[in-house]
Amino acid sequence: MNKTLLLLSLTLVGLLGCQEDATQTTDPAVEAGSKAFDYLVELSDGSVGIGARATGTEAETRTAEWIQDKLTGWGYSPELQAFSYTRRGTEMSSQNVVVTLPGQSDQVVVLGAHYDSTGVSVGSEGATDNGAGVTSLLAVAEAVAGKTLPYTVRMVFFGAEEVGTKGSEAYVASLSSEQLTQILAMVNLDTPVGGDILYVHSAHSDEGEYGCDDASRYSFDPKVRDRLISLSQQGDMTPFVLHPSFPGYPEGETGSWSDHAAFACQGIPVAYLEATNFGINGEDGYDGYSQTTNAALWDCYDADSKSACDRDSETQWGKIWHTQYDRLDRMEEVFPGRIQSQIADSTRLMLRFVQDPGL
Ligand SMILES: [Zn+2]
Repeated sequence: MNKTLLLLSLTLVGLLGCQEDATQTTDPAVEAGSKAFDYLVELSDGSVGIGARATGTEAETRTAEWIQDKLTGWGYSPELQAFSYTRRGTEMSSQNVVVTLPGQSDQVVVLGAHYDSTGVSVGSEGATDNGAGVTSLLAVAEAVAGKTLPYTVRMVFFGAEEVGTKGSEAYVASLSSEQLTQILAMVNLDTPVGGDILYVHSAHSDEGEYGCDDASRYSFDPKVRDRLISLSQQGDMTPFVLHPSFPGYPEGETGSWSDHAAFACQGIPVAYLEATNFGINGEDGYDGYSQTTNAALWDCYDADSKSACDRDSETQWGKIWHTQYDRLDRMEEVFPGRIQSQIADSTRLMLRFVQDPGL
């Protein structure tokens, strides 16, 4: 190489270097949010990826392997935790995928999301419930790979949630009392996208709601929920809020119907991210089961009464989960851009939390 060429090459390297610096200033949370959506397409769109993954099917098993492959590709050593359960008299099997990123402290923050889906017969591909929870956590795992965060972060991808939170129960049951003591917080992502409003819930202040084997251990400490609400108010995202109180459920408190419950029963403060709409007078009142006021998801929605035009004949009730709307193509028709935006929010929030959980 002569001198002129050498100088030219050095100049080029310099220019390319500058370009690299420019791309490095991109917000890593923006990058992670966009990856979360890309992985959601791979996971939940059956025309290009896995699609529906009903509990107990081969597709559920394949999804666990897909999650494991993704994590392995980013340098993790994920563990498949097999478990069995009985359903309608039949012995069934499933597995959790568990991965740990050691932190400065060996005290642990658990992030969890179930990867099985339901409503296959009506056309659901489990995009919002709970593909988005899974791929949001995957994008977080990718973004923090190789980093040393303040606390050890463990991500658990649960199987068999839709038939009664079997994966989270099996995971918690597998822990020794010392391992349980090390867990400072658990955040459950179950349908973090889809509905009109982003909420974070804590466990219920009435321990009887959770039916724990040992109620004396139960925790409903709302500190993880409150930390997440406050982190979501720091800009660059839609703030998450507390749901208003409704009969039996004080403001911001939820029931035991998802994977946070087994952790609360062991005295671990929990939080639960959920996108729905508690401002609708749904089939059973203002209980958050109706997710949207969008007319497309009602036979007829009446904005004045915040309910169905005719409560006796309504069949849809604004529900996305477990319906034909829980797939990316239908969601994009009805709510253009909503999933992309909401998955970016849940991913950004989880990244903020693992970097500064305030525990
Ligand atoms: Zn779910």
